[in-house]
Amino acid sequence: MTPPDNNSLTWYQLDLNQVAERLQSPDQGLTLSEVETRRAEVGLNELIEKQRKSIWMMFLDQFKDFMILVLIAAAIISGVIGEVADTIAITVIVLLNAILGFIQEYRAEKAMAALKKMAAPSANVVRDDKIETVPVGQLVPGDRVLLEAGNIVPADLRLTEAVQLQINEAALTGESLTVEKVTQALPEADLPLGDRKNLAFKGTLITKGRGQGIVTETGMQTQLGQIATLLQDQEEGRTPLQKRLATFGKKLAYVILAICAIVFIAGLSRGEPPLLMLLTSISLAVAAIPEALPAVITISLALGARKLVKQQALIRKLPAVETLGSVSYICTDKTGTLTQNRMTVEQVYLNGELVAPDELPVTVEESQTDQSLAERSHPELLLCALALCNDTRLDGDDEAIGDPTETALFELAREKGFLRESLEKTFPRLAEIPFDAERKLMTTFHPWSEGQVVSITKGAAEEIVARSTHEYSPAEQIEINQEQVQSTAEQIAGEGLRTLGFGLRIWNAVPETLIPEEVESALTLAGLIGMLDPPRPEVAESVALCRSAGIHPVMITGDHPLTAEMIARRVGILDEQEKGVVLTGRQLEQMSLEALECQVEKVQVYARVSPQQKLKIVQALQDRGHFVAMTGDGVNDAPALKRADIGVAMGITGTDVSREAAHMILLDDNFATIVKTVREGRRIFDNIRKFIKYTMTSNLGEIWTIFLAPLLGLPIPLLPIHILWINLVTDGVPGLALTAEPGEKNLMQRPPRDPKENIFAHGLGTHIIWVGLLMGAVSVVTQAWFIDHSQAHWQTMVFTVLCLSQMGHVLAIRSERESFFSQGPFTNKPLLAAVLLTFILQMATIYVPVLNRIFKTVPLTAGELAITLALSSIVFIAVEVEKACKRMRQQD
Ligand code: ATP
Repeated sequence: MTPPDNNSLTWYQLDLNQVAERLQSPDQGLTLSEVETRRAEVGLNELIEKQRKSIWMMFLDQFKDFMILVLIAAAIISGVIGEVADTIAITVIVLLNAILGFIQEYRAEKAMAALKKMAAPSANVVRDDKIETVPVGQLVPGDRVLLEAGNIVPADLRLTEAVQLQINEAALTGESLTVEKVTQALPEADLPLGDRKNLAFKGTLITKGRGQGIVTETGMQTQLGQIATLLQDQEEGRTPLQKRLATFGKKLAYVILAICAIVFIAGLSRGEPPLLMLLTSISLAVAAIPEALPAVITISLALGARKLVKQQALIRKLPAVETLGSVSYICTDKTGTLTQNRMTVEQVYLNGELVAPDELPVTVEESQTDQSLAERSHPELLLCALALCNDTRLDGDDEAIGDPTETALFELAREKGFLRESLEKTFPRLAEIPFDAERKLMTTFHPWSEGQVVSITKGAAEEIVARSTHEYSPAEQIEINQEQVQSTAEQIAGEGLRTLGFGLRIWNAVPETLIPEEVESALTLAGLIGMLDPPRPEVAESVALCRSAGIHPVMITGDHPLTAEMIARRVGILDEQEKGVVLTGRQLEQMSLEALECQVEKVQVYARVSPQQKLKIVQALQDRGHFVAMTGDGVNDAPALKRADIGVAMGITGTDVSREAAHMILLDDNFATIVKTVREGRRIFDNIRKFIKYTMTSNLGEIWTIFLAPLLGLPIPLLPIHILWINLVTDGVPGLALTAEPGEKNLMQRPPRDPKENIFAHGLGTHIIWVGLLMGAVSVVTQAWFIDHSQAHWQTMVFTVLCLSQMGHVLAIRSERESFFSQGPFTNKPLLAAVLLTFILQMATIYVPVLNRIFKTVPLTAGELAITLALSSIVFIAVEVEKACKRMRQQD
């Protein structure tokens, strides 16, 4: 905690004992109480974020709109000249509008902040002699952190162990080549960051290997913290729809302003008071310009994202919610996503025979001898290999933690009495080449006998067999019959089992440099293992749902083609009727991008694919015009996840790097969840469309009402305050309640939406135009019908008809096709409540005397009210008829 100062040595110049001493960090890690004390002293390991918009700023922002300011100014002028009540009423309404806008923005912000918090990564740390997983923010100097490929380094560390550890420090140094890390002290002073090879820096990416380190600095004290201000400008961009609507909105605003100018001039020429006309036209502009549209989209996306968390999907990039509905290909991993990732060993091959694990001729007693590995029986040696070439650990409750492939092997060995931890006391790991998904192999070195060492290599069965020259036998070395053993491996894989091979090689000493191609060759095959990983039960149904929704599910796996094919068949991805093709990584390698593009739509399974090849698959699909969701968990999956339209990372098994690159994280790693999110994405997009339909139609209705009347020789039908009131009560709450609308019945029976398609496609534009015109016409007809009553009378009626027509409209557009009556009014309770509230408020403006004075309305008689309500329901009926026609057309 006290940085090295006295003799001005920095962390990288100190040896490990000095570092541990200075940081008072014992081998067994800090105690919990020590952690608490240190945290109280140095704070959380977090970068302090750029000042967020304060609540006040958020509120004031609501008035940023120029038109609102002009409106308030005009209201004040009119107050100074005469009607103070008007000024107050208009100001109050504008204020209420701002409050509504503010509440919405605040909620969206809160929802986004909560999502961000959930996406925060965690780190494995040794404390109190136990390995714990803690949120990265909880680390303190002196903590001992475990690192593995795929992690983002959680704090600045002095490395105490580095096994082929490679870190990409581009985020910090700009250097894109990875740095191979070491643990020994580097005495030279003033080394640049990139050369401090025994340190690991917060925020950098571990691309290979594994290691351990002691935390030297946390939070803003880290190298990243010191430049953090430079990195914090990664504002969430606007979504494609928001961008399109913003440009459209701008153009629309000019048209509306032009119309308002015409209304103003026409009013003046008819001899209306100029100030009233000014207020009327500005109110109309404020009400009709859909300036809030992009904001409302953010809100519904943010609220949608919040809802998706409950369905086990965490959205990292908001535009993903909008685009989910366009997904036409879901490319998914197999292990853990389609399958349960709960593996058990089902078959063992040794000595030319296939046996079940129970039939292995080994007893627990035999396992306990202190014989060297060289002296063990063949089955015993294989079980030792299973335990030793394995990274599984036991937690405090003796539960195995680690990669399921490895835990299955670990468990089988443990069952027979070969516990990794006890074996390692006699046969310690002398060196290793960690697993990576490219090689599909991993190797460890252990003592063999009489000073010799053995390397145990495990990995994809056909790779091990191909690299083997012999088959193990305690008595003599037998030359391997490649063809025969490969066909046994295929037989195991053909049953849908993951097949791993174990190879041995004896050395006089551990080689000085561990070059994988050299070490992992000339092996002696010790045995093959077949593991069962059953499909998740819910996947088959989700695959079927994908198909009905026009989405193609594709499996991309590192596993054997036969294993992959079997599982793909079981879950329905490989479909006989569609004549689906299985392609291997090797075939993929030899194909040009163009050649792949010709085939890509037929391929349903890619097997033995390396993560890099996923990028090629995404590219080919995108070039064919598809919208691709792609899953990934490893460090090398990041480029494909970034490139995919929706990159999906795994919450349980995924690496930090893949999660950083993804648009969305599956909290349960489940394929079925992806399909659920696509469904939810389609629903959210539908509802945004409904919102646009509702507000734009309403606004157009208001414009027609004010514009048509003078054309027909009638006075301006509404006062400014009426227009603003309608804008307040109709736009805000009922509009937002539309986002709570449940999905349409045919949501997953229709093809994906073309992402380039115009938002006004599928009749949306036509609907807005004709219903808007109808709304205006009904209002003006009301005015004309009762024009010989007092102005207050007909104005009250027009005011009410226009307001309630919009309520009728919002109820009718809840579904694109289904009738309101078959949907039932209670399936969207927030909307029902919003409509009822608006109705009551509108009635209050008619029947509450104080409001009569403010709104210049009069109470209507029962007959007049009945006529008003009847006229108000015309729009509702018309839209219901439109939907009925649609249904009939589709039936034909
Ligand atoms: P999927 O791509 O379907 O999710 P996966 O992620 O498990 O499968 P990889 O992790 O890329 O696939 O593994 C590819 C192959 O590498 C496996 O089929 C297996 O043969 C081998 N393999 C997996 N884990 C290990 C391991 N810990 N040690 C050695 N070999 C392994």
